Amino acid sequence: MPLSIAPGGQAVLFASSEAHPLIKTGGLADVAASLPAALRELGQDARLIIPAYPQAKRLVRELRVLSELGLKNTQGPVSLLGGLLPDRDLPVYLVEAPAYFCREGNPYTDVSGGDWGDNPERFLLFARVLARVALGLPTLDWRPDVLHCNDWQTGLAPVFLNSYEERPATVFTVHNLAYQGVFDRATFDRLALPPALWSIGGIEFHQRMSFLKGGIAFSDRINTVSPNYADEARTAQYGCGLDGLLRQLGSRFRGILNGIDYRTWDPLQDVSLAQNYDRDSLELKATNKLALQHHFDLPEDEHCLVLGHIGRLVEQKGVDLILDLLPRLLEQGNIQLVVQGEGDRALEQRLLDQATQHPSQLSVRIGYDEARAHLIEAGSDLFLMPSRFEPCGLNQMYSLRYGTVPIVRRTGGLADTVVDTTADSLASQEATGFLFDEANAEALWGALERALRLYHQEPANWRQLMQNGMTKDLSWEASAKRYQAFYEEALQSRSEQAAALSA
Ligand code: ADP
Repeated sequence: MPLSIAPGGQAVLFASSEAHPLIKTGGLADVAASLPAALRELGQDARLIIPAYPQAKRLVRELRVLSELGLKNTQGPVSLLGGLLPDRDLPVYLVEAPAYFCREGNPYTDVSGGDWGDNPERFLLFARVLARVALGLPTLDWRPDVLHCNDWQTGLAPVFLNSYEERPATVFTVHNLAYQGVFDRATFDRLALPPALWSIGGIEFHQRMSFLKGGIAFSDRINTVSPNYADEARTAQYGCGLDGLLRQLGSRFRGILNGIDYRTWDPLQDVSLAQNYDRDSLELKATNKLALQHHFDLPEDEHCLVLGHIGRLVEQKGVDLILDLLPRLLEQGNIQLVVQGEGDRALEQRLLDQATQHPSQLSVRIGYDEARAHLIEAGSDLFLMPSRFEPCGLNQMYSLRYGTVPIVRRTGGLADTVVDTTADSLASQEATGFLFDEANAEALWGALERALRLYHQEPANWRQLMQNGMTKDLSWEASAKRYQAFYEEALQSRSEQAAALSA
């Protein structure tokens, strides 16, 4: 493993259940690859660890076995593999446990879309390995100062580490409070977890157990992925039952905004586009619109306004708002909408039915396709993101970077990253998109109407709006520095705690 790290840099083990380009279902995968890479650029010795899914093993460079772990009470042997991400020199460890992780496709669900029945066992095992690596494996010759866990799949690791005097500092990031890894008492018993954990101060959560609560309650520092979502998370409306605990954490819990990976998302270099462009050559963007229309079997017309949407097709993302908007939208004429996503089968079907009825204006692709997502970002004029809640959201930032004006609900990270267009914000060149408040089609339509008016009546201001978004610094650098400071705090609090224990 390359170790070109400045002296004094912290050793950080970044634990995630997915990482782009090895395996991805959502934003966590993007963060898991780009944040550790950004930390390395700041001189931190950050390394990634994920389960050894088959597709991950196929893609990791210089893969080799590092250590047999000899864990007890597991199905088959468990070992640690090591290598590098395919597209950058980021060291990655893979937790090889074939009975748990040797499954093709989605990391959490089977082919029918249901959760794997043994997910509690799978991510318990992952957490056990995280704790082992965090405490220092004799064969590894490397030990993290900080274990940075992400989401419920890693939530038990800080719980297991809590009682070890020699443990590293622990940081836990919540990427979405709605996914908690909650299981019943029978599962708790089956996992043979220490009985004391079945308590308010442990991982018990309304007569069930919560992996997410474990991560939140037992880590030195806890954050979520935007300041606004951190505020919302402390309220009953958005806190998913954990708002009380989050409030209790005080300043140990905060929001740190995600960045985006400028290497992967750069309209000037992006190989998935029909035509590269930047803020000074915006006229070239139209070639991508024509390519997008072609790909999506829509009439090719660069004067037609194209709206895009990409995402998991679930209630959170407000796809039903887009569906409710369709009658009004499509009667406008000279407007097209392209949608790509997968998720809730009923929402998928409603979208497909509408596309069949309006083949020249609406085109829907069910499925996951990274390259096509890039083309949608580049080829659309406007990007719709009417989420009911949104911890950070990445697509609106990709849109900004690609000069595609986002229309977003004023919630979570969307409110932190998009500046609403008003006469004042246009004049100060801060405007980057359109925001609306209520989670209904009426409010979405109101924002869209404002956008259409500017697009049709004030082309110079529209161009300025696109350029404002493209000029914003959305890179990981600033956020990685905030994480660096957060790790310092976690280490400080860890050493104070250790000193108190030994006194
Ligand atoms: P979430 O993590 O809640 O799904 P984010 O906006 O934070 O939402 O991140 C979603 C990521 O997944 C983005 O990189 C987005 O482009 C990508 N994505 C989601 N669905 C698809 C899809 N069907 N095809 C390609 N990329 C997708």
